[in-house]
Amino acid sequence: MEEAQASILENMAPMPREMAPIESCLNRVLAAPLLADRDLPPFNRSTFDGFAIASREAANGRRAFSIEATAFSGDAELELQSSNACIEIMTGAPVPKGADCVIKIEDTDTHGAVARLKDSVIPKPGLGIHPQGSDAQAKQELLAPGCRMTAKEMAIAASIGKSELLVAKDPRISIVTTGDELVDIAANPLPHQIRRSNDLSLSLALRSAGYQQVERYHLADDPEETEAFVADALSKFDILILAGGVSKGKRDFLPKALESAGVHKAFQWVSQRPGKPLWFGASEASPLRPRVFALPGNPVSCFTCLHRYVIPALNLSSGLVREYVSKALLDEPFRFAPPLTLFLPATLSIDNTARSWATPLPFNTSGDFVSVAGTDGFLELPASQTEFEKGTAFPFHPWNV
Ligand code: AMP
Ligand code: MG
Repeated sequence: MEEAQASILENMAPMPREMAPIESCLNRVLAAPLLADRDLPPFNRSTFDGFAIASREAANGRRAFSIEATAFSGDAELELQSSNACIEIMTGAPVPKGADCVIKIEDTDTHGAVARLKDSVIPKPGLGIHPQGSDAQAKQELLAPGCRMTAKEMAIAASIGKSELLVAKDPRISIVTTGDELVDIAANPLPHQIRRSNDLSLSLALRSAGYQQVERYHLADDPEETEAFVADALSKFDILILAGGVSKGKRDFLPKALESAGVHKAFQWVSQRPGKPLWFGASEASPLRPRVFALPGNPVSCFTCLHRYVIPALNLSSGLVREYVSKALLDEPFRFAPPLTLFLPATLSIDNTARSWATPLPFNTSGDFVSVAGTDGFLELPASQTEFEKGTAFPFHPWNV
């Protein structure tokens, strides 16, 4: 399993970079630093609705200030004309020149054009002011390359005027399912037929991981059709994800079709459950140099392999920096004798000392995707052990939600 993972990571080339409109960048990986175009905030902004004064006047005993003017947000900076006066100010407006604090409206009583400070108020320089440059200075790096652009990072990009971002290219991904038994979602299946679900679940998991350019295809178990499709797809896609038809069945035509299309096999067969037939290769001959993942067709197997191998590989190629695997404590003793790494679907709960506990779901077979639906991710139990004690920490891989 470690060898398989290393082989995939070794074979993934860095994704080229491209400029993309900000609206299309959700969950994509930033490829150049974002620098503040000016100080943030760009001026001393009032944090209250209230009155801007010179605090030294209050320190000298003044409690009543005549109201000179009103500063609204959107107005250019005003100037306090007389230090015994104040300027009425709204949250977000520039603090007037000559004033060094803002007293919130609740701490004052206003009579006509005079604002009086309540007895409890002690004005101090800086009170009620969010100072210019206190969040970030002009030219400071706000986001580093390799970060994922989620909604909160988008706010930063927008605030510095980036309507386009340099991001890792969104790879063109083809998801191909195979199998004569599989029919469309809308079809009325015969007793021996199965509605196709893997292509949908895999493509949606990829989308929630930030990969949007995913197309779906379905192939019959037919060697000619498979070979023709593979040859064509290699010239159009950066990543091919094939599901089904990769094992030892008499109609599993994919490994041969891939090899005859010139895809170099890096490995097949991994000591793991589920997902043993996993096949990975690369086609250096095609101009796009596509990488090919052939996953077993069983729904739990291919969903697990996508999360354990494919998404991390895409993230690595995209330059994502902060990729870490969390751990969770096994909630009950578990035994698994075969010398295979076990990917065990589990639900997570957090106890009141903030420890994460994973309760394994002993699923029936790798075809049992019904039970997996209630789980949060999967534990990775190493092949080297047979007995897994309650309370031991193991890597936990969350499903994309
Ligand atoms: P295979 O890897 O082709 O031997 O398929 C293994 C099992 O997964 C078979 O029972 C298939 O019917 C099932 N399977 C394959 N592809 C899909 C799919 N797209 N959706 C649902 N089940 C599938
Ligand atoms: Mg099949």
